[in-house]
Amino acid sequence: TDNTTAALTVTDVTVRFAGLTALDGVSFTVEPGSVHAVIGPNGAGKSTCFNVLSGVYRASAGTVHLGTTELTGLAPHTIAGLGVARTFQNLALPPHATVADSLLLGRHRLTRSGFIATGLRLPSAAREEKRHLDRVREIAEFIGLEEALERPAGSLPYGQQKLVELGRALCMEPRVLLLDEPIAGMTADERRRTASVVANVRDSLGISIVLVEHDMGVVMRLADAVTVLDFGRRIAGGTPAEVQNDPAVVQAYLGA
Ligand code: ADP
Ligand code: MG
Repeated sequence: TDNTTAALTVTDVTVRFAGLTALDGVSFTVEPGSVHAVIGPNGAGKSTCFNVLSGVYRASAGTVHLGTTELTGLAPHTIAGLGVARTFQNLALPPHATVADSLLLGRHRLTRSGFIATGLRLPSAAREEKRHLDRVREIAEFIGLEEALERPAGSLPYGQQKLVELGRALCMEPRVLLLDEPIAGMTADERRRTASVVANVRDSLGISIVLVEHDMGVVMRLADAVTVLDFGRRIAGGTPAEVQNDPAVVQAYLGA
């Protein structure tokens, strides 16, 4: 991808459910190596937007591109394989797996030797496994959980479990990371720590991030650009400062 190509381009996307238009001709672009926040009141269409980007929902109209590759209508695992990773609003970790194994799950799509090669203990498979384990350790350090690698992920405090989920997404080596309310339900300390990890994902790893988040303080500090949705429509967009002072945004949030 060169600098003139957006990381992600959403063009006129509409999603209709029976009797309801959840997204109505929404367009925005995510610049490479930026945090792009999608905000709006409850029911605005934020989660629907994520579900379209990750292939869980099919757009009724419009297109989504990753760089120059069209993602519209592709299956979730195909989209993930092309480099769009996501976390969920609610935890989705296997309850008894260790942190290391939970992170390793994110390497799955990158595994080239099949399980037969691994089962036969071929040297190539052993080398590949070592590469994955090394990367898992690096990511664990990146999210500040290297001490917890052998602990069951489910035994960690909630905020750290959310970080494991973020780490698992990073293990997929994504080009674009979709974060659905990454700091919801966290303590003040966990929020601060997670916000700094998210900033590092952009600044150190250069990954583009689409962020759905209710905490406006965090959105204003972290986001490079903001798209505001209300009743499925894009009502404003721009820098955090521009959006904050936009009368349409103030009105949407006040419900006027
Ligand atoms: P947000 O995440 O901004 O709160 P959502 O994207 O979850 O909003 O929802 C947008 C609208 O679409 C809401 O009116 C919601 O009830 C509706 N909606 C979301 N998913 C579905 C679905 N699978 N079937 C029917 N309606 C849905
Ligand atoms: Mg939602």
